[in-house]
Amino acid sequence: MASAPRILIVEDEEPLVLLLRYNLEAEGYSVDSVSRGDEAEISLRESVPDLLVLDWMLPGLSGIELCRRLRQREETKALPVILLTARGEESERVRGLATGADDYVVKPFSVPELVARVAALLRRAAPNRVATTLEAGDLVVDRATHRVRRAGRDLHLGPTEYRLLEYLMERPGRVFNRAQLLDGVWGMDTEIDERTVDVHVGRLRKALNGARERDPIRTVRGAGYSFDETFGRA
Ligand code: CA
Repeated sequence: MASAPRILIVEDEEPLVLLLRYNLEAEGYSVDSVSRGDEAEISLRESVPDLLVLDWMLPGLSGIELCRRLRQREETKALPVILLTARGEESERVRGLATGADDYVVKPFSVPELVARVAALLRRAAPNRVATTLEAGDLVVDRATHRVRRAGRDLHLGPTEYRLLEYLMERPGRVFNRAQLLDGVWGMDTEIDERTVDVHVGRLRKALNGARERDPIRTVRGAGYSFDETFGRA
């Protein structure tokens, strides 16, 4: 697996920085933040992250001006930038994109939406960064073809079981409760009963595990499910 993508947040609203940092770190990103536009410019001369979350209105130097300057430098010409704008500025969104931001969100925005845009933009910017196969022990998931093999044999998973496996395997060892899995695998606005998760975990296990094979999915009593991070080691 590639190392964690690095994200720099440039935002002067401290509570928003904390919220974004918390959620992006939970997704496995490495996060830095600065609160001023001019500080960001200095920081970006020292090191270039994989993605920039940039507020429009900043002390020191505006997000728009910083973005314009970044596009003029070779090192940051292609740096993926998501611009944060306030609602009143929305009519000027075209100006934001013309200045070279790759995407923008309007405040107040939903954090899962921003996190999804970060992931999408990183995928677009560096397709190689997202591993095309996930492997653990004798289990191999080919994300391009959605083929799943265990010990060389093809497994037949339904689409939900496939997404569930991919989701858990991308985050080995992390325990997800049923509500989190519904959000992550089924989508945010589902009103599906949480017991549905158990049904699909059951189907996934049945598809994955032959007789005497070790179960890579761990049930954590009272908490939820995780992909066993020790699976395939010893
Ligand atoms: Ca601001």
